[in-house]
Amino acid sequence: MSEILVLVEQVDGEVKKVTLELLTLARSLGTPAAVWAGPGITAEAKAKLAEYGADKIYVAGSEDIVGYVVAPKAELLAQLVAAKSPAAVLVAATAEGKEVAGRLAVKTDSGVITDAVGLGEGFVAEQSIFGGGVNVHAKVTRGTPIVAVRPNSTAPEAAAGAGAEEEVSVTLSDSAKAARVVERVKQEKGARPELTEAAIVVSGGRGVGSAENFSVIEGLADALGAAVGASRAATDAGWYPHQFQVGQTGKTVSPQLYIAAGISGAIQHRAGMQTAKTIVAINKDPEAPIFELADYGVVGDLHQVVPQLTDEVNKRK
Ligand SMILES: Cc1cc2nc3c(=O)[nH]c(=O)nc-3n(C[C@H](O)[C@H](O)[C@H](O)COP(=O)(O)OP(=O)(O)OC[C@H]3O[C@@H](n4cnc5c(N)ncnc54)[C@H](O)[C@@H]3O)c2cc1C
Repeated sequence: MSEILVLVEQVDGEVKKVTLELLTLARSLGTPAAVWAGPGITAEAKAKLAEYGADKIYVAGSEDIVGYVVAPKAELLAQLVAAKSPAAVLVAATAEGKEVAGRLAVKTDSGVITDAVGLGEGFVAEQSIFGGGVNVHAKVTRGTPIVAVRPNSTAPEAAAGAGAEEEVSVTLSDSAKAARVVERVKQEKGARPELTEAAIVVSGGRGVGSAENFSVIEGLADALGAAVGASRAATDAGWYPHQFQVGQTGKTVSPQLYIAAGISGAIQHRAGMQTAKTIVAINKDPEAPIFELADYGVVGDLHQVVPQLTDEVNKRK
């Protein structure tokens, strides 16, 4: 079967879950080959990639790959596409992944699909478009299909691959070196999972009522091992930091479970969460538009419902 390149997302040598999801998807369509961009690959990382089906691991360990923002990663992939003629290239639909995908498409004169939430036979992607308002099936008809897949679109499943390592040396153009990374500042990370990658997200809206009351949302999130999100009404009010805003002008999430508490379900909020697998809405207004979208709805005051839910979840632990 033809090779499918999967660009590895990693932090400090630790492979991110989305990469395992992409390897799982790639396995159903061809032979997965992981592409490690930059220095710092570890034995654990190689073992993880092989465990999830990487038949090959292309390692481009040059410091330059990570020293110049995203352009070198696109050049690395373009050179691999030319050398290996893969059936497709999969990247995570993160901000960086999508930029790499776009640049790679230009370099290889190929079509690109972003924000895919599924990928099937013939590389037909299920894609969320127009701010999440419409889901379509799309297929690249020119060049090598390049598909940026949203985190949590598929469940990662282990199935060992050979994990044969192959070193790759890449020649970077001057234009790829136009913007140099001069400093990296590590973001302080709490115990909760990253919002865009979390399998469960609990979000609060204007109905939460105040910054202090967000502890109710956090309580449920912690009981479920979830990330916390917020509507723009809540972040604009200063109740929760803007980086946790979900929606058209915030983050796009696609978790297995999304719990919206005190959120009306405005189109701009939906744009960021409607591809969640299961949506639960808690709202005191039975006419709230969020119920049109929800798989399960609770009509009630979130200040009563959410703490009870948290207690029930904690009891089952
Ligand atoms: C260009 C543009 C971009 C935007 N981008 C975003 C975006 O990225 N993300 C986003 O979220 N919004 C965005 N918005 C704003 C969006 O239009 C809505 O105004 C916003 O989503 C509303 O937030 P909300 O649902 O929390 O508040 P509201 O619409 O005020 O809804 C609050 C809900 O809480 C319920 N409620 C109140 N009290 C309780 C209680 N005690 N218990 C249970 N339920 C209760 C109410 O019944 C109501 O349904 C954008 C708007 C524009 C114009």
